[in-house]
Amino acid sequence: MTLRLSGVTLRHANGTEALRGVDLGLQPGEQVAIIGPSGAGKSSLLNLLATALPPTGGTLQVLGEAPWQLSSRQRQRLRARIGLIHQAPPLPPRQRVVTAVLAGKLGQWGLGKSLLNLLYPLDIAGARQVLARLDLADKLFERCQQLSGGQLQRVGIARALYQAPELLLADEPVSAMDPRLADHTLGLLCRHALEHKVTLVVSLHAVELALAHFARIIGVREGRILFDLPAAAVDRAQLDALYANEQLGAPPSVQAPDGVWTPRC
Ligand code: ADP
Repeated sequence: MTLRLSGVTLRHANGTEALRGVDLGLQPGEQVAIIGPSGAGKSSLLNLLATALPPTGGTLQVLGEAPWQLSSRQRQRLRARIGLIHQAPPLPPRQRVVTAVLAGKLGQWGLGKSLLNLLYPLDIAGARQVLARLDLADKLFERCQQLSGGQLQRVGIARALYQAPELLLADEPVSAMDPRLADHTLGLLCRHALEHKVTLVVSLHAVELALAHFARIIGVREGRILFDLPAAAVDRAQLDALYANEQLGAPPSVQAPDGVWTPRC
């Protein structure tokens, strides 16, 4: 299994219980969407899977390893096999797009090569190729601060694709894109995962995007998995329960279509 969680809890430093007894298994190559209201624990779960945070209880296996029983050096090696796409990619504003994309391989390159790459981008053709898939080839030498939020998100995706991880995690990766571009970009991520046998876990606020692109949907609420179902089995009642009592009311995107949903990947 690529991921195996058993009774996992996660308490943040301030005492917030972000995850409460999560059981979850993912096979290699599976593609899963995580949905749920704000504060449900989606980002905490993705950070835990990325081994950025240790669980406070339960057991966790990622790519066949128990991350927190490894030495820090071994854990670094494991992290190089995991890609994490952030909602707001933490890219230095003055960094050039080409350098930001090539940084995807820093975990796999040695120190010397990584430092050299900061001075002179080592694989401009590779960066251009992956940016072209996201319609950003013309931004290769621009600085990150010159890009819009949606373009920055696509640079973050390009960086993760360039990294070529075995496990790809994405936290709201298309939230700053218009609906058409968001749909196109998610389709690209799913196709990439399928072609390269990558396991893909994506958190999404837009439920209709999750249902359209993913065969398996996990609903998270108050740190617990409320449902874990094939997309075709997710109905309006489940979505109402998932988003019940949201302070601002349910967003329009949680309205489940009446017909049958056909996952695209
Ligand atoms: P979601 O991604 O579903 O919006 P999060 O995982 O970000 O949910 O948050 C889950 C809960 O954990 C929330 O109550 C949030 O306030 C809290 N939380 C998230 N990150 C931290 C943190 N770094 N320190 C303290 N509390 C946090």
